[in-house]
Amino acid sequence: MRTRIIAGNWKMNTTPDEASALVAEIVSSSTVQQAPLSVRIVVCPPYLSLSSAIQSSVGSHVVIGAQNCHHEEKGAYTGEVSPVVLHGMGVKYVIVGHSERRRDQFENNELVGRKAARALACGLTPIICVGETLDEREDDITTDVIGTQIRLITSAAGEDVIKGSVIAYEPVWAIGTGRAATPIQAQDVHAFIRSELHIFGAQDVPILYGGSVTDENASTLFTCRDIDGALVGGASLKASSFCAIIEAASGVHGR
Ligand code: PEP
Repeated sequence: MRTRIIAGNWKMNTTPDEASALVAEIVSSSTVQQAPLSVRIVVCPPYLSLSSAIQSSVGSHVVIGAQNCHHEEKGAYTGEVSPVVLHGMGVKYVIVGHSERRRDQFENNELVGRKAARALACGLTPIICVGETLDEREDDITTDVIGTQIRLITSAAGEDVIKGSVIAYEPVWAIGTGRAATPIQAQDVHAFIRSELHIFGAQDVPILYGGSVTDENASTLFTCRDIDGALVGGASLKASSFCAIIEAASGVHGR
């Protein structure tokens, strides 16, 4: 049975106190307290709010992820954050290759693969983001783009790293736009990703959908055979909408 995961990406939002309060609200909700253990709940605050989020999550079903890490353990990398330090703090997951970092920090697939490999070696589970732009979808090259991303990331990271990771399919045109992929569009790409992962025996890796997931569209997306959960941006910043998405995942039978 594949693991289901609901992960919240808080981006550059929440002070340490706000993060602590939001985690406390999520942890104390009846949805989270009753969620099956087969549904993993992850929240990813900004770096400086990780510590307070971890303290608020202790003893609960909620685990904490980071939004990025460096591809080396230590060294002359001013301003960067080591995956060793994240792991030592109690962080469990790390997002790598988010489209906002590809766009703003010019991260490419090779770097994303190296980050994933280092993160896994340091005890973190990478959540590796892939996805096409609107132009690429309109040019009908979505699967070419995503196939290339997966191959380049895998060749930099190694097949075993992909087997230990989570993939997030995040169409760039759906992130923060209020325009989610339809369940058919998302399922088509998830099935393609799973077939690519199958080539190197990683077909059981959870594949999350991300891009304008809300408490209104989550349950329909989760009925799709190859959607194993969600990476949620905006709707993860309010406990009520994030918990409603967790509830939608909790009602879906495992595959
Ligand atoms: C994201 O940033 O990963 C994301 C999916 O954002 P949103 O849910 O706001 O579209």
